[in-house]
Amino acid sequence: MKTFTHINATTIADAGAKLTQYGSSAMLIAGGTDLISFLKTRCLPDAQLPKYVINLKTIPNLDYIKEDTGGLKLGAMATLDKIAFSPVVLAKWPALAAAARGIAMWQVRCVGTIGGNLCAKKRCWYYRSTWNKFQCVLNGGTGCPAVAGNHRYESVFGATNGCYAVNPNDMAPVLVALSAKIVTNKSTYDAEKFFDGFKVTVMGAGELVTEIQVPVPPAGSKQGWYKAAERQAIDFASASAAILVTPATGTITAARVVLGAVGTTPILSAAAATALVGKTMSEATAEAAGTAAVAAAKEIGPSNKYKIQMAKGCVKKALLS
Ligand SMILES: Cc1cc2nc3c(=O)[nH]c(=O)nc-3n(C[C@H](O)[C@H](O)[C@H](O)COP(=O)(O)OP(=O)(O)OC[C@H]3O[C@@H](n4cnc5c(N)ncnc54)[C@H](O)[C@@H]3O)c2cc1C
Ligand code: SF4
Repeated sequence: MKTFTHINATTIADAGAKLTQYGSSAMLIAGGTDLISFLKTRCLPDAQLPKYVINLKTIPNLDYIKEDTGGLKLGAMATLDKIAFSPVVLAKWPALAAAARGIAMWQVRCVGTIGGNLCAKKRCWYYRSTWNKFQCVLNGGTGCPAVAGNHRYESVFGATNGCYAVNPNDMAPVLVALSAKIVTNKSTYDAEKFFDGFKVTVMGAGELVTEIQVPVPPAGSKQGWYKAAERQAIDFASASAAILVTPATGTITAARVVLGAVGTTPILSAAAATALVGKTMSEATAEAAGTAAVAAAKEIGPSNKYKIQMAKGCVKKALLS
């Protein structure tokens, strides 16, 4: 790993000021479960590797999980394990707890944070290969070797700026489905507008996630989450789906269906919502919503076509869960 100066931030303002001061030569570290492996591979050109790593763990009290009149509030440093087993989260936001529980393994969840999950970098193996072997458009070069090469994990919903790498982060789709807001030191974003298909988030220079706000779900609604992965444990999603349907029984009046790990951002499917509204939940309704959710999907080649069927299945399973 290239050496860097490790700086302990004392407050959110301090972290933001340091980020602004050091600009592109700094990166943030939360739990470090993604960042450290990213830095170890030296997958970026040397000039893009950080000279400064700013530690958020030293900011006091940024790991809270609480409910107030506005709904659920999660500090950016709340760990995935605490979210997964929090009685507050489990009471009204079970899909959020399920998504957190479905990430990696216990050791990773105990240090990995929700802020880090929302901002973790893409996992395309060309991008992450050691010593910046493949200089694609995302890591300082040109073109996308995955198109002619191995694209089995890449997007079936097109590219962003020429990059087909999916957003791999499991908390993202569920927060979009639950109409969460992502609060930073500079702004507040609707979760569905927070993700960027190229640089993961829309945040700008000097910006960091400070809080996640999740409204109380509508009375009588049903939420669900389902993840398909190659291995049942400790694996990133090949596809996932998060849903919020109102009401849980009877004629559906509102629905949010979000696909994960199949596009360069989480995909909020208006077509799937249309397929659900006015219907009652049944296997046929869930099947129709799954079909609608992937109607616009298109494989790069035969090796990532499976993701389309898998995403459809995830929608169906999440709706019927
Ligand atoms: C074996 C293994 C399995 C995994 N499996 C999964 C999985 O199944 N699903 C999944 O989604 N992830 C998985 N991960 C990835 C990772 O563990 C999670 O994304 C975790 O939540 C990252 O959180 P962290 O606090 O460790 O982030 P870090 O590694 O500290 O940071 C990740 C990125 O986010 C940035 N960042 C961190 N906090 C903030 C903030 N507050 N504001 C702005 N930027 C910030 C950092 O600069 C860095 O670029 C896995 C990792 C490992 C090692
Ligand atoms: S999908 Fe994106 S990250 Fe992967 S090789 Fe292509 S441009 Fe690079």
